[in-house]
Amino acid sequence: MDWQDDRCTIAEIKERLKHFNQERDWEQYHGPRNLAMALSVEAGELLELFLWCKDDGPQPAVASREERVAEEAADVLICLLNFCTQSKIDLSAAVAKKIEKNAQKYPVEKVFGRMEKHDEYEDDSSVQR
Ligand SMILES: [Mg+2]
Repeated sequence: MDWQDDRCTIAEIKERLKHFNQERDWEQYHGPRNLAMALSVEAGELLELFLWCKDDGPQPAVASREERVAEEAADVLICLLNFCTQSKIDLSAAVAKKIEKNAQKYPVEKVFGRMEKHDEYEDDSSVQR
């Protein structure tokens, strides 16, 4: 398989992870609670690489961290896909459903260029944009 975003599917990655986990007998540890915690830990590891970066400076602040950013991003996805496998969530279907829900919640004509949450924006023009 060609491991590029535009050449492999989520199902293929999930299958590869399933094989990886079965080879190590790790599925016994992969309950949804543990995987949700692991996902949060990995997201924290990703976030840590950007800790103390200046808003107008390079991100991450230390160039040698760039490879680790990709590794932690991969860890986040691995945990998420393992979570979805164990929780029997079809991630593509869930994403499509959520995008549709967000489109209803955030209609373009109301929120274009605005950053407020759905219950914070008002129709008056005094809201800072
Ligand atoms: Mg990690």
